[in-house]
Amino acid sequence: MLLSMGMEQLRKLPAVHKLLDHPVCRELIELHSHALVSRLAGNVIGDLRREILAGAEHESALLPDALAHEVAQRVQAQFQPHFRPVINATGVVLHTNLGRAPLADEAVDAIVRTASGYTNLELNLSTGERGSRYDHVERLICELTGAEAALVVNNNAAAVLLVLTEMAKGKSVVISRGQLVEIGGSFRVSEVMRASGAALVEVGTTNKTHLYDYERAIDDETGLILRVHTSNFRVVGFTHQPELADLVALSHQRGVPVYEDLGSGSLIDLRAYGIGDEPTIGESVRAGVDIVSFSGDKLLGAAQAGFIVGKQEYIQRIKKNQLTRALRVDKFTLAALEATLLLYRDEEKAKSRVPTIWMLLRTQESMAAEAERLRSLLAEVFGGRADVRVEEAMSQVGGGSLPTEELPTWHVTVRTRHFSLNELEHHLRHVDMPVMTTMQKEALHFDVRTIFPREIEVVAASVRDACGRIG
Ligand SMILES: *Cc1c(COP(=O)(O)O)cnc(C)c1O
Repeated sequence: MLLSMGMEQLRKLPAVHKLLDHPVCRELIELHSHALVSRLAGNVIGDLRREILAGAEHESALLPDALAHEVAQRVQAQFQPHFRPVINATGVVLHTNLGRAPLADEAVDAIVRTASGYTNLELNLSTGERGSRYDHVERLICELTGAEAALVVNNNAAAVLLVLTEMAKGKSVVISRGQLVEIGGSFRVSEVMRASGAALVEVGTTNKTHLYDYERAIDDETGLILRVHTSNFRVVGFTHQPELADLVALSHQRGVPVYEDLGSGSLIDLRAYGIGDEPTIGESVRAGVDIVSFSGDKLLGAAQAGFIVGKQEYIQRIKKNQLTRALRVDKFTLAALEATLLLYRDEEKAKSRVPTIWMLLRTQESMAAEAERLRSLLAEVFGGRADVRVEEAMSQVGGGSLPTEELPTWHVTVRTRHFSLNELEHHLRHVDMPVMTTMQKEALHFDVRTIFPREIEVVAASVRDACGRIG
């Protein structure tokens, strides 16, 4: 019985050339090419045949209009870029999977301005001689951090590798056991150390390391003292790490430079706004740390990059290392970094123009109107088929920064028994402008903090589109 029904359906499947005769397909052929459309039409029919043979019923899918529509969707999908913008409604400000920091308009403009033509990337305009690509941002980052010299490489992981290679290859690096961290994406300090050819000397215990632990470990083989900011976790309770100033004093007394991998590193003192307990980059520099490195796309809110700042003699050596060339940044990154750093010259500008900082500093009060706007738009889209509310919640900083910090926010929540929220969430990832949400306890959550005001209407349009796709 089943078999004969399947046979009946198979007989109804049109031949590819018949399907291509459908007006929708003919138009597609005009717009694209016969080869492309006929290949995709063949795929559509082939897929259906396999499904029918596997026992699926496909009455409605066999109608000519439905088949042509499916071909049109597949053609469209071919031209949809794989890498594209999404809306972040997760509330995680530095979401590594969503590309970390969104750039300031000024940074985007700088990329556009320099991308379409030639630039003075490695040309000194005042002398007409060859210049260095590092010149464009070195002066600025030194001004903002108080460092003597600086360079910038592909990312902070590259910065760590480079510093360890230049400063400690064939030597040993003293590090506190409590700072041997693994950062997301399996970046392990111990593994990078191995790759750099430096030998690891662990001191102290997981929760406590004293200055005397460092003191005893330093010998003629020691190339560097490494301090790693434990950016993505916190050891709480019975803990101890020596004060930075004491570590610096010890290092200078013993003639061994100290390098601090700050991870995120902020130019703005977020503590002044009640966020976190992280020292700024400038504080590390002023404390006398010889080399400091940090990411460009974490709390700094610029492009993916790794800054290395510090004492002139060490930065000069690092610049000359052969690895530096392999880890160098491109012109687009430099354009974005310079434009973003310029904003930091005026803290008020950084607070309003650098999206990462602006989002971190958004208060519940300042987001209330946005939350209500989104709630009312979504209520309109669902038209009584869902319960849409504004609720108090907490956002996270993300990107391995300020792990224990929670920022009070508003969530617009959707609950319903009329359709599957899991299905809605799925379709929200497949519409033209995907919206990344979170599902918490049978409710779909939209965190207002990470949605730009210009995106509120777009979120509602995407939800409307996704609703239309629910079967
Ligand atoms: C994030 C982080 C890194 C890696 O930085 P990327 O810019 O992502 O390469 C290295 N060290 C610490 C402590 C970090 O937090």
